[in-house]
Amino acid sequence: MSKKNILVCGGGGFIGGHLVKSLLAEGHQIRCVDLKQPKEWHQLFDNAENVVADLKDRENCQQACAGVDEVYNLAADMGGMGFIESNKALCMLSVLINTHLLQAAREANVKSYFYASSACVYNGVKQVSEDATPLKEEDAYPAMPEDGYGWEKLFSERMCRHFREDYGLRTRVARFHNVYGPFGTWEGGREKAPAALCRKVIDARENGKSEIEIWGDGKQTRSFMYVDDCVHGIRAIMASDILEPINLGAEVLISIDDLARMVEEIAGTKLEHKYNLSAPKGVNGRNSDNKLIREHLDWAPDYDLRKGMETTYKWIFGEYQEKLAAQPAEAS
Ligand code: NAD
Repeated sequence: MSKKNILVCGGGGFIGGHLVKSLLAEGHQIRCVDLKQPKEWHQLFDNAENVVADLKDRENCQQACAGVDEVYNLAADMGGMGFIESNKALCMLSVLINTHLLQAAREANVKSYFYASSACVYNGVKQVSEDATPLKEEDAYPAMPEDGYGWEKLFSERMCRHFREDYGLRTRVARFHNVYGPFGTWEGGREKAPAALCRKVIDARENGKSEIEIWGDGKQTRSFMYVDDCVHGIRAIMASDILEPINLGAEVLISIDDLARMVEEIAGTKLEHKYNLSAPKGVNGRNSDNKLIREHLDWAPDYDLRKGMETTYKWIFGEYQEKLAAQPAEAS
């Protein structure tokens, strides 16, 4: 395999960190750009070129794309439902990242460009039932995506399409469905359901509590994809001849209540569920239809949810303990 110069935007983030690790393992030269300071990056690799820059700024995008063969754009101001439902303008401002990156990639004659889209582009009308019919790629239109975050993703998908059609930039787009795993956000307001549930169960156990709070009525359903499967899928889509946005997710539907029960089993405990019906919970049901990716790329997730959640729980447990151990030192 030929070695490439690759730019990973949002490389300090959860999925970006895992992608960088897999690209480095193949011997590619990696430039990793993120808005956060490196001490906040989820994973930091000394053998990558690590750059702190705001990619909403066009000049920063031009510098980031200089001398690069491939761009992976995973940079976005985002988080779980708690974040995206109350930060719609911030989420939409990520449009500047993709727009300026596309322009810079075109100017720098980048050969391939990957954009991380989301299942939040899908029409809300198709997601009203917990017994969710898996979403096909065509279900994004007529457009009625998640307000704020989903509109930005749908618009940016379209930008990728038109840069490909009008300027010949080779763009590839994946619609991720709920990615989880170690080295992600597990506290602070941007965490997603799998990490939040692990933290709540650990917290209840450590503090002798008998209940955890569940956002919504717990009946809402989702599918969850382990991050290693996501990285394999990203690479396969980037190498493929698939021009239109394609689903990248798991197809096993589970309710948030049952996911919480799974975490409790892993932790060896059983807790009461206190439902917060005014908390953000997103659509009632969402699942991925993987017919296209199965047929075109022979891709399917390797990890089953229980195995992936065990690994995730163990990692968050370690982070939680580390944070606890650091507290007295911080206070002194
Ligand atoms: P993340 O928040 O961990 O990573 C995103 C990174 O982008 C962060 O490190 C952040 O600091 C960086 N960033 C934000 N604004 C920036 C800017 N202006 N300039 C430079 N860097 C900036 O999120 P993630 O879970 O790793 O998601 C990666 C991509 O996948 C995002 O585009 C996200 O929307 C998409 N996605 C993720 C999921 C999921 O379940 N995690 C689902 C659907 C889509």
